[in-house]
Amino acid sequence: MGTLSYNLKMLWRLFGKRNPEFHRQVNELAEWRDLDTETRHVEQISKLAHTLMVAKKSVYYRDMLSNFKAKQNAIDFLKTLPYLEKEALRARPELFLTGEKMTVAAHTSGTTGTPLQLRRSLRSIAREEAGFFSWYCQAGWRPGWPMIVLRGDLVVPAERETPPFGVHDFIGRRWVLSSYHMSDATLPWYIDTIRSSGSIFMSAYPSSAYILAEYIWRKGLRPFGMKAVFLASETVSQEQIDLISEFIGPVHVQYGMAERVCWMTTCQAGCYHEDTSYGFTEYAPLGDDRYEIVATSFINDAQPLIRYQTGDIAIGPFGWKDRCECGAMGPGCRQIIGREDDLFHLPDGRKIGRLDHVFKAVPHIVAAQIIQHDLYHTEIVIVPDVHYEQSYEKIIRAKFAERTSADIAIQFTYRSFLPRTARGKFRAVVSKIARENHG
Ligand SMILES: [Zn+2]
Repeated sequence: MGTLSYNLKMLWRLFGKRNPEFHRQVNELAEWRDLDTETRHVEQISKLAHTLMVAKKSVYYRDMLSNFKAKQNAIDFLKTLPYLEKEALRARPELFLTGEKMTVAAHTSGTTGTPLQLRRSLRSIAREEAGFFSWYCQAGWRPGWPMIVLRGDLVVPAERETPPFGVHDFIGRRWVLSSYHMSDATLPWYIDTIRSSGSIFMSAYPSSAYILAEYIWRKGLRPFGMKAVFLASETVSQEQIDLISEFIGPVHVQYGMAERVCWMTTCQAGCYHEDTSYGFTEYAPLGDDRYEIVATSFINDAQPLIRYQTGDIAIGPFGWKDRCECGAMGPGCRQIIGREDDLFHLPDGRKIGRLDHVFKAVPHIVAAQIIQHDLYHTEIVIVPDVHYEQSYEKIIRAKFAERTSADIAIQFTYRSFLPRTARGKFRAVVSKIARENHG
């Protein structure tokens, strides 16, 4: 795409998104932030009641919610309702529509590879835009300040081998760089472009920012020293946070999804705090201090989703009365895992959502991937640095067996890079069993 056509497209988008509703939502968010915990809590319950009243208009919820009255305790009523599986939404999205006139269709490939057809109210679109805008501003960014964007935008043809690997959006003052062209051969161009842009803010996929940070570290280059790096759309590992913080800038993480039922952002202590004006989040116990994030959105009156099972896993949830290490009160959770990786299937029927622990404390691994070929054969692909030693295999094998099963044969493969998905994302665990199960 040419720079001119890209800028025209962005101009059109900016006019579409920065409307009066957007500014109203930005103000509402600023007011919400100033509320004390008690008032926020009361406000959340009233927003939940409103959502349940609106959802009554949909075929899916009509009977379920027929007995609900606006003055009832909305949380008590909510807890009597069943969880909503992704499959129910995927199969019959029209059942969730409330008949709201002005809506926009959104199609998503879904983080679990499940394509969903969603409809969003104009207010919900403005709310999402306002959420990101406010989040950036809280970290010190101001409108009109330059921003580096590295978020999987298709701005350059895949086959391009020569710079530029991005587009300069003059109107939004953003350098939108490609997440699909990053290699040792092209990264010097990315780094020069970022340095000469003078931007001290970056909005990125965690995996893309990680590739950049890892390169700077590996080549011994000068860190960017940015003011803030905003990460969203993928679960972020501690290893990614550490490297990105050191070589690009302090990391801020947003948790959300296309279904837009939940919004959390990280604090200075690295914990996730809920935006309770956005939705009502529950943590369904899975055992072993793991909880599935189940959430009810307040922001989309066109297609309300109630107790939606996100498939994402939280660790260490904390409530309204709990004070986080950062000093702020809950609710929220310490960590979120399992967004892009496949579940690892064990011969005894167990499924494991995260296996990167097996590489923890093993030095000199640039990147690693676990490929499950079948229940008894797993391949561990490692991108080593020059100091890696073959003897580390023994440590990894032991750690792997500790968490999975000694019955699994492990084969090590060494590569210079790891393949990415068509969407430019990286998977730490690829399970051929999980893929077969999903068709
Ligand atoms: Zn905190």
